[in-house]
Amino acid sequence: MSDVVLVLNAGSSSIKFAVYPSGANAVPLIRGKVAGVGRDPVFSAIRADGTAIDMSMLTNIDVAADHETLVSLLLDWLEQHRGDRRLVAVGHRVVHGGRGFSRPVVVDDAVLSQLEHLIQLAPLHQPHNLAAIRAISRLQPTLPQVACFDTSFHRTQDRLAQLFALPRDMSDEGILRYGFHGLSYECIASILPDHLGERAEGRVIVAHLGNGASMCAMKNRQSVATSMGFTALDGLLMGRRCGALDAGVVLYLMQSKGMNATEIETLLYRRSGLLGVSAISNNMRDLEQSDDPRAREAIELFCFRAASVLGGLVTALGGLDAIVFTAGIGENSAQVRRLICDRLVHLGVDLDPRCNDGNSLRISSVRSSVDVLVLPTDEEAVIANATNETVALR
Ligand code: ADP
Repeated sequence: MSDVVLVLNAGSSSIKFAVYPSGANAVPLIRGKVAGVGRDPVFSAIRADGTAIDMSMLTNIDVAADHETLVSLLLDWLEQHRGDRRLVAVGHRVVHGGRGFSRPVVVDDAVLSQLEHLIQLAPLHQPHNLAAIRAISRLQPTLPQVACFDTSFHRTQDRLAQLFALPRDMSDEGILRYGFHGLSYECIASILPDHLGERAEGRVIVAHLGNGASMCAMKNRQSVATSMGFTALDGLLMGRRCGALDAGVVLYLMQSKGMNATEIETLLYRRSGLLGVSAISNNMRDLEQSDDPRAREAIELFCFRAASVLGGLVTALGGLDAIVFTAGIGENSAQVRRLICDRLVHLGVDLDPRCNDGNSLRISSVRSSVDVLVLPTDEEAVIANATNETVALR
């Protein structure tokens, strides 16, 4: 009988899942998704060979089914379809681990309560991550669950990279730059040597450009600085999030427009970014297909801001050896990569247009002093490995 681990990445509108054989660097047996959470949930999954799995028995679900209910349905389904495989652990993506968690941890009541205190720092993600953990605890209380944090990878940053210029007591209290997308950065850091050889230990900037977007400056494959800060709102312009914003705008919205905290949260997290600037869509692919000048302006602002942030991170690194593009936009949009790299010529960046248009692994030309790569990220694989290791160490 072989053992498997279940990986859950519970976001606001979807729950991604994967089933891995236990053991290091395994290939997932199943990858799937519950889309339309809170609207009209639909389960789908594929096997390792890419064939679709029939999940039609999971139809007619209450449209308002919450994360806990959907995770319960998924676990029931898995129980019925796991054959002779034994589910030995569940690994979760958890967005915020605060200062306390610098590595994956087995979740118990004390850990869960610490993670609940961090909900206010990641209001869009943390509640859903924890709802998935609670659902499993209720159904299978003895099954080990491991929380893997998006913040952990950045705990290697020195104090200056973490500090805001606020009074010291506030920094002491934990109002710091934490950084996110750490599971994606860990994945890229682990494969860098395959593509860069010894240069992998040099000065590398990874651009995770998806619905959420951030950059991480790495030296020796460890995080030195990153664009997201206290929350996942800072830094780059994103699908719906504004990215870095003069805090004075928030004061103005409160004092002159009478907006309250909830209204401002909705504005900054859900109505801004690509969606806000284009007034069309939060989705880069839609914007690229549109002739509307507002779509064009949103794309150009996205790339201008990305290049500007990257320039700042080069200073944190003291130079630049390589750039890696990853995640939905980074892996697929040749136009976005070109518009960003066109602004980085002064750093020695030179793209090979044909390789860029073809989404090749290496898109820099032979003249480029900076290697530019396109590498797929796999956060679920990082969680599966961490879950195996953490459970084995118990
Ligand atoms: P999430 O943060 O939700 O995991 P993804 O990493 O899947 O997001 O990235 C989603 C983004 O990637 C969307 O803006 C989508 O339009 C964009 N994207 C995906 N494929 C393409 C493509 N071929 N061209 C341009 N943008 C794309």
